[in-house]
Amino acid sequence: MRNALGLMLASVGAAAVIAAVWFWTSSPRVELAAPGTVSAPLAERLAAATPGKPLAARDDVATTAAIPEKPIAPSQKSACANPDALGVARVVVIDTTGGPGFGFEHFKQLDFLADKEVVLTFDDGPWPGNTPAVLKALDDECTKAVFFPIGKHATYHPEILKQVAAAGHTVGAHTWSHANLNTKKMTEQLAKDEIEKGYSAVKLALGAAPSPFFRFPELQHGPAAMAYLASRNVAIFSCDLDSFDFRAKNPEQIINTVMTKLDKQGKGIILMHDFQKHTAEALPVLLRRLKAGGYKVVQMKAKAPLQTLAEYDEALIKDMKVPVASTRPVSSVVQTVSE
Ligand SMILES: [Zn+2]
Repeated sequence: MRNALGLMLASVGAAAVIAAVWFWTSSPRVELAAPGTVSAPLAERLAAATPGKPLAARDDVATTAAIPEKPIAPSQKSACANPDALGVARVVVIDTTGGPGFGFEHFKQLDFLADKEVVLTFDDGPWPGNTPAVLKALDDECTKAVFFPIGKHATYHPEILKQVAAAGHTVGAHTWSHANLNTKKMTEQLAKDEIEKGYSAVKLALGAAPSPFFRFPELQHGPAAMAYLASRNVAIFSCDLDSFDFRAKNPEQIINTVMTKLDKQGKGIILMHDFQKHTAEALPVLLRRLKAGGYKVVQMKAKAPLQTLAEYDEALIKDMKVPVASTRPVSSVVQTVSE
């Protein structure tokens, strides 16, 4: 009896959510309600005065202030069906001019998270099985993350990376081959090649430009690569909280590591790997634990996409032996003119 009543209440709740989403997206107010950005005026002026020049100050982060996530259009099947979902509490837009750094393990300047706020990040994908499982866990909780795929993996499994982007997650990059960019034999040119080829591979897989977000393999921040990324206006992501999921013996260990560190630190950018099986297995429970602990997810988006370099795009297409026409979206090749 109680179960039947619960089911009925859940159905009524779901119907109310669907009606609210329909009302919201069909209403003329929707354009007015699109997230506006509140940015640092000084950074804006500097950027306008010296286009293309990196900023010395790293206070150039634009954030949306307490604006709810843009409502999901009814045509997108991902409308949240879970009334108790973790969801997304806040969406922030990052102005990556000058290559700002995020994550207290390496960068202390941009402390933009409030108490109990977390950012979910996943490295090393896309990978069959694990990445789709991570996507499902995130989707079940109607929440969003930032992904840092490896270029090579993106060329192996472009269809999986496309699913990541289609689900509304932010996609940056994590080099071409996961090379350590902080070794003696890593020249400036090799570091540039790793970075740019990685972005071109992500672009080729997605058929769209990636976000100018970057995470160094093994969090090894080479100084030359740091300077290069700054010149390319790419934001660098370290982390506040490493899940050490790659060496966890089971999913429970990942959940315990993350929750123990979070309860101590109170907030943070969480580093995980969609490449890892245990992470994929841990995620449904971990996301429930975050919800139960009163944590709120902040989604990070880039203000503008990264312009990949044509020479790397072309070299990659040549290497991959991809026919040039296949890089064009279908809609630019085939158009319905009458039906
Ligand atoms: Zn990695």
